Amino acid sequence: MKITAIDVWALALPLTRPYSLSGGRLRFDRLDSTLVRLTTDEGLIGWGEGCPWGSTYLPAFARGIRAGIEELAPAVLGLDPRRTDVVYRAMNLALPGHPYVKSPIDMACWDIAAQSAGLPLCDLLGGRTDGLVRLHSSIPSGTSDELMAEIDLARTEGYTFHSAKVGGDVESDIDRMRFLDARMEPGEEVTFDVNRAWLPAEAVAALNATTELHRVVEQPCETLDQHLQVRRLVSQPMAIDESLQTMGDLLRIIETGACEVVGLKIGRVGGLTVARRMRDLCIEAGIRMNIEDTGGTTLQATAAVHLAQATPEPFRRATWLCVEHLSLDPVEGGARNDGTGHTGAPTELGLGAHPDIAALGDAVACHHE
Ligand code: MG
Repeated sequence: MKITAIDVWALALPLTRPYSLSGGRLRFDRLDSTLVRLTTDEGLIGWGEGCPWGSTYLPAFARGIRAGIEELAPAVLGLDPRRTDVVYRAMNLALPGHPYVKSPIDMACWDIAAQSAGLPLCDLLGGRTDGLVRLHSSIPSGTSDELMAEIDLARTEGYTFHSAKVGGDVESDIDRMRFLDARMEPGEEVTFDVNRAWLPAEAVAALNATTELHRVVEQPCETLDQHLQVRRLVSQPMAIDESLQTMGDLLRIIETGACEVVGLKIGRVGGLTVARRMRDLCIEAGIRMNIEDTGGTTLQATAAVHLAQATPEPFRRATWLCVEHLSLDPVEGGARNDGTGHTGAPTELGLGAHPDIAALGDAVACHHE
């Protein structure tokens, strides 16, 4: 089997309402997604998607994916998509770095590999585990009341696990964290996600003023070095998200005991091939994972849910569905909120989700052998 065509679509995804991270530092009202279809000489096709969370969240941007695929296409055409490691190595040789560019092609290869094996994707990523995958909401930054209003809305959709964005000035953040903590109901969880907004001194001040709150605090500072500086001086359980981009980052996180939780976002680390390796290493190191992606339609989320579904329950913490924030989702099938704040990997072969081609418009690039 060989890849004979790579077709690429750009898709604007309007949000149902504008989203703010870190005290409004990052605010946007739409996402720019890239959908990729791989066609093979044996008739199987696979779908992939790459969608950074705007351009200011990570060293990644939507047009970079499309330009990068143009570079990668000659190296990928003609390869057997079932040989996911071989395809990945060819991409690394053709374009070192730029991991997020490789993720949509890698995802489409895994979709084809699983269809070809006659399995749902999760069964190729370690095997389906029992139990549903818990979802977390994503609560945009705002005043305490605004945060609480968003949490109330998420509760109506079944969510019992909330990721609340803090990271403004320290005094307000202390108030916000106490306010939200006090309003959690039994069985509910909240993580305070700072999205790198605090300086180390601010993080230490905010966290040492709230030691009575035993909630996970996520990505307090810009870099892993700053995080480690803070880690030594506070007692809260911690999560690292944006600072985990490469396998080298993960090795350092493990070596330094930097956190209890990592946010494993498929696109950020370079696709399922790399995320699966990181998942296995986290299991060995006893680190729990939020396995998810940075944005996109149900297509991209479903790939992450397959990896989460194939991860032993004690190690998978929660997953996020970006679609809950979108007013457009032209995807059939895939992982959805079951109404209780949980989801599960589809049972169809491969990814178990595909876009409605008619809704995508014209492809922006078609690479053929
Ligand atoms: Mg985060």
